[in-house]
Amino acid sequence: MRVVLVGPPGAGKGTQAQFIASHLSIPKISTGDIFRANVSGGTELGKLAKEYMDRGDLVPDEVTVAMVRDRLSEDDAQEGFLLDGFPRNVPQAEVLKKMLAEFGTGLDVVLNLVVEDDEVVRRLAGRRTCRSCGKVWHVVFDPPTVEGVCDACGGELFQRDDDREETIRRRLEVYQEQTAPLISFYADEGILQGVDATGPVEEITQRSMSALRRFAD
Ligand code: ADP
Ligand code: ADP
Repeated sequence: MRVVLVGPPGAGKGTQAQFIASHLSIPKISTGDIFRANVSGGTELGKLAKEYMDRGDLVPDEVTVAMVRDRLSEDDAQEGFLLDGFPRNVPQAEVLKKMLAEFGTGLDVVLNLVVEDDEVVRRLAGRRTCRSCGKVWHVVFDPPTVEGVCDACGGELFQRDDDREETIRRRLEVYQEQTAPLISFYADEGILQGVDATGPVEEITQRSMSALRRFAD
């Protein structure tokens, strides 16, 4: 299946993406994770992306699209994929549509994770990420056993630079201005499914899987 996850920053896209991708046995492709790996690796792409990410702005489309094209050309993405964080504006959605058409295929479904603004801010402000394995925790909603230490690998937890208050505000504006229009774009394509993304993580995964099953055949 070819699936896209959309939703505001902090909606739980990354959290859900790992479970959904594993249920469907498809790779999870997260543009934010790829950018962050490039930032930590000190690559040219990372240096360029960091400037935009630190401000809470989108990395320019031509850079992002080239990176996604490369990733989607890899062997493991030929039978399906779950995109998390891409597309993030209508021009990216249009390029993705063309790109998939060149490969002779198209998206099956777009899941829109719906969470209200206050909850999104609570989720972002308490998010902590493992420096070693990238696993995401929350200081209140999903705390590790020992504060600041990843239960999965023993790595150090840190707060992303862009999860600080001023940047959170900017990212929410960017979401409203640029990303939210994707909802009507994909509704018009007839492939949009809204998912209530409040409540326990496992319940949201179950709701997402039921929504996907409606598009499976
Ligand atoms: P979140 O999970 O909080 O929504 P991401 O990890 O997806 O955030 O993205 C972090 C940052 O990486 C974004 O604020 C943006 O600067 C950059 N980024 C990620 N995906 C894209 C994209 N598709 N287009 C442009 N910039 C992107
Ligand atoms: P996104 O990728 O959409 O930015 P994340 O998956 O990184 O969102 O989740 C943002 C924060 O919210 C993380 O700290 C995560 O632990 C927490 N979180 C995710 N899902 C839930 C949920 N259902 N209830 C409470 N907190 C959650």
